[in-house]
Amino acid sequence: MLNRFFLISMTVFIPFIASAQIIETPHIADVVDLVEDDAWVLVDFDNTLFQAKQALGHAGWFYDEVDLGMQKGLGHEEAVREAYVHWVKVQKFCSVQPLEEDFIPFLTKLQNRGIVVLGLTLRQPMVADSTMRQVDSLGLDFLKTAPVQEDFDIPAKSHAIYLKGALFASDYNKKSEIFETFLSMTNQMPKKIFFIDDKRKNVEELEQMAAKLGIEYIGVYYTAIEKADPVYFRDLAAFQYKMLEKILSNEAAMHLMEKGIE
Ligand SMILES: [Mg+2]
Repeated sequence: MLNRFFLISMTVFIPFIASAQIIETPHIADVVDLVEDDAWVLVDFDNTLFQAKQALGHAGWFYDEVDLGMQKGLGHEEAVREAYVHWVKVQKFCSVQPLEEDFIPFLTKLQNRGIVVLGLTLRQPMVADSTMRQVDSLGLDFLKTAPVQEDFDIPAKSHAIYLKGALFASDYNKKSEIFETFLSMTNQMPKKIFFIDDKRKNVEELEQMAAKLGIEYIGVYYTAIEKADPVYFRDLAAFQYKMLEKILSNEAAMHLMEKGIE
């Protein structure tokens, strides 16, 4: 009797361990078949869903600006804050492009299967409108299958929001924390998560969160940016920034027009 009781107790108290794996690849085609119908797909923005079309406004430019601030003696948070003034200004005009041609069609096909696809970025709420314009320019609409249609604020150490199917977690929070808060605020619990991000740290943090909640997990550490032709060059970005508020002279404008530059 005692033995039987012991066995039953063991069965009850053995924690359920959800399966998890992390796959590193520069090609989204390598993982398309791994998304199951009951998964939620979460996708990072910078250097995953898209990259800027030019040096100015590229994520590489932002990281460089933060590094420069820190070299000047600023703390990380302060350096981010300072870089953000320029980042916000530039994102208003910045155009973006996917890293691989089949990335957006991959997400659209998932949505056509009824699969939830959400954005999960560390971008701050103050660039959310510019960012959603960029997402829109790629022909992607997260609301197509998002489980929550309304926008709302997410309480956290630093202000975060959910807007049009994308979580703007902010540089000062962890993506995993914001996503977990989103789940509890909306009373949602996916069975599986499929998360794509170009930063291994984010992929690993979400894995830990999924394990804690008993959610099956596939993390894609997506390295396409490392294989892509470089778009960001510091000197080009500096020149482009300088030109941002300059009116071209007639001569310069005619010169560019003759060269067919739009
Ligand atoms: Mg990224």
